[in-house]
Amino acid sequence: MPPIGALASASAALRKQAGMSHADAFDHSASQANRFRTLAGIALAGLVVLLVTAAYVVNQFDTVAYETQFQIARQNYHTRIIHIARAIAPLTTSAETAQHLADPNWIDQHLAQHLASEHEMERLFVLDAQGRPFYAAISGQRAPLADYRPFAQAVGDVLPALSAARVQNPSVMGSNILRYQNQLYLLTITQTGPSGSAVIITGLPFNDAMLRKFGLRHLADELTITNHPMPKKGYNLLPLADVRGNVIAAIRWKQQSPAVMVFGRLRTTLAAATIIVLLVGFCLLRQSAAIARHLIASEARARHLALHDALTGLPNRTLLLERLGNWQAIARDVPVGIALHCLDLDRFKEVNDTLGHPSGDELIRAVAGRLVSLCRETDTVARMGGDEFIILQPQADATAAMLLAEQVLDTLRQPFQLEAGTCSIACSIGIALVQDSSADAADMLRQADLALYQSKERGRNRATFFEPEMDAALRLRRRMEQDLREAIRLGQLHMVYQPQVDEKRRLVGMEALIRWDHPERGPIGPTLFVPLAEEAGMMAELGEFTLRTVFQETAAWRGAPVGINVSALQLRTPAFMATVTRLVAEYCIDPAQYQIEITETAMLGQDGATRDNIDVLAQEGFSIALDDFGTGFSSLSSLHRFAIDKIKIDRSFVRNLDAGDVDNRKLINAIIRLGRAMDLEVIAEGVETERQHSLLVMAGCTRFQGYLYGRPVPAAQMPERFQAGWEHPVTRKTH
Ligand code: C2E
Ligand code: CA
Ligand code: CA
Repeated sequence: MPPIGALASASAALRKQAGMSHADAFDHSASQANRFRTLAGIALAGLVVLLVTAAYVVNQFDTVAYETQFQIARQNYHTRIIHIARAIAPLTTSAETAQHLADPNWIDQHLAQHLASEHEMERLFVLDAQGRPFYAAISGQRAPLADYRPFAQAVGDVLPALSAARVQNPSVMGSNILRYQNQLYLLTITQTGPSGSAVIITGLPFNDAMLRKFGLRHLADELTITNHPMPKKGYNLLPLADVRGNVIAAIRWKQQSPAVMVFGRLRTTLAAATIIVLLVGFCLLRQSAAIARHLIASEARARHLALHDALTGLPNRTLLLERLGNWQAIARDVPVGIALHCLDLDRFKEVNDTLGHPSGDELIRAVAGRLVSLCRETDTVARMGGDEFIILQPQADATAAMLLAEQVLDTLRQPFQLEAGTCSIACSIGIALVQDSSADAADMLRQADLALYQSKERGRNRATFFEPEMDAALRLRRRMEQDLREAIRLGQLHMVYQPQVDEKRRLVGMEALIRWDHPERGPIGPTLFVPLAEEAGMMAELGEFTLRTVFQETAAWRGAPVGINVSALQLRTPAFMATVTRLVAEYCIDPAQYQIEITETAMLGQDGATRDNIDVLAQEGFSIALDDFGTGFSSLSSLHRFAIDKIKIDRSFVRNLDAGDVDNRKLINAIIRLGRAMDLEVIAEGVETERQHSLLVMAGCTRFQGYLYGRPVPAAQMPERFQAGWEHPVTRKTH
């Protein structure tokens, strides 16, 4: 026995298998979700790349914008200074001013007040030819000359350049900036008067109010003059330097980001667009999630359908093989016994034929229900199609397997209550046990199938374990099947004819019997290969060979009656009559010359096709002989129902005559009397001894066939027999 732990893990594995279809569906949806996640990841990565690129572009855009703002500011600043200079130049450089520069009162009235009121010049200084302050005013009012002192340095820095420029120009202007009392001044310095005799200096306070007049204000927010020209985040600086190059102040304004501006303007629109996009995305996501759910569900359904039988809902062959494979994988690691039961219902076809297909389906479902109720949760009951089931019974040894098989046999023996009525069936079982773990699933199935075949051979309604010898037998059969196929193709089959005689031993007819001369095995009897042909689906071909050969070989035999054996399977085939009719026409034979020999069992089933075929044979003019009479279950009614002309007493009764069995003798007498009463010809088969012959004659038998009168011979040897004793053609009974 396997260890407890191993069994527990094996059971767990099985329980996992039991829920396999759900698990698989789940796996599948998980993989779908994964795929979704990957897609979402890719989309997100795309978005990030887009945003980074956008940020970079916006940043570049802003950098360019800042640079432009700076350039414009600088340009504006210089332009502004030139404007101021130009504005006051007509006053400071005029000839009249030059004339009156020595008159402080004139300067008061004509320069100081005008410059202060019209041009906002806070300071005005006039220097004499020696560069000394001669006049000073603040906001148009005369002021002490000492006020000039703080400005002297800034003016002095400009003067040398002005003097140099004056060589070409009578009055030249310069400018400088300085800070005084925390106030930035823009100075204009004009050297004027005859031979540069005077210098006029104006001081314009450079404050925020003044800045606002700069064209700059259109460009920037928070535009200020700062005395601390330190860079500040988010602000732009235009450093202001005096003529010496010392930065003494700066114009500062808030950097305006065009991107921010654009975004600001588009805020509402963007918000609306974002909401719409999000809404649409959300709807799409919901939609696709619903589609995905639907797909997963329908895939799970499809998988269930692919792995289960539609009629019973049981696992089908595919799922069974999958589970068997899994169990075998487990068995390779842990010694777990596995039993595989192959079940075939006995007499299912009869139920189907007599009660109809819906009842057949109902029966299959009921059988499935009973099987499932017998099995454990870890067992698998599968339907292989038709009336064939498989039970996979893991964790089982021979005893457990036999126990289950007996329970199955027992439960299926109980009658079934179907809508169309009660019916009783049984079943045959073949069991394969895992002996060595290397056997694969298909091997096990084959073994169980072989064992099932044995169960049927041994009389059905039983269970048989697989044994290795069965394999050999099967291999032999497969070889034989192949050989038989070849034999039909290569013409290794032929017909022989056995004489039938009357009580005076005159030839009254013959029976055609098929023979196979196997190139290696020698002659093989039809008792061996006819059932083989039936199982391998070659019976139609074999049957046609018999009919064709017999017609061909015997058509010329002056109406001598010839018996032809036709198997039950051939008779069940609807196409059988078409073959007969075709061959009758092809060989121009007279059907009245031939007797079709049918076994009793062929007549058993209420098979429509069998009935029709027998009726048509009779209508065409063939007579019908009931072969092996007494061994089957033929009833008097079937003798009546079918157009029977002749009965053949089976060989076994004739053989038993020698043994002096009284009952046997009574039976033969009864058959012969029955034949007479029903106006049927009666012939005894297998007569081998004189004693059998005389006993049969005494019982009233008039027709005989057996080795005593002659063994079957090929057609070529028949004419001699005719010459020896061909007497009277048998007259056919009319119906
Ligand atoms: P069956 O119809 O009962 O044929 C009679 C069998 O008894 C033949 O065996 C024949 O050789 C044998 N037999 C004849 N007299 C004696 C005798 O005195 N003693 C003994 N022991 N046997 C005797 P065979 O030829 O082996 O045929 C066996 C069965 O195969 C036939 O039984 C028939 O059912 C079937 N069969 C034969 N030929 C054909 C055929 O062409 N088509 C079909 N469908 N079945 C055939
Ligand atoms: Ca026969
Ligand atoms: Ca027979």
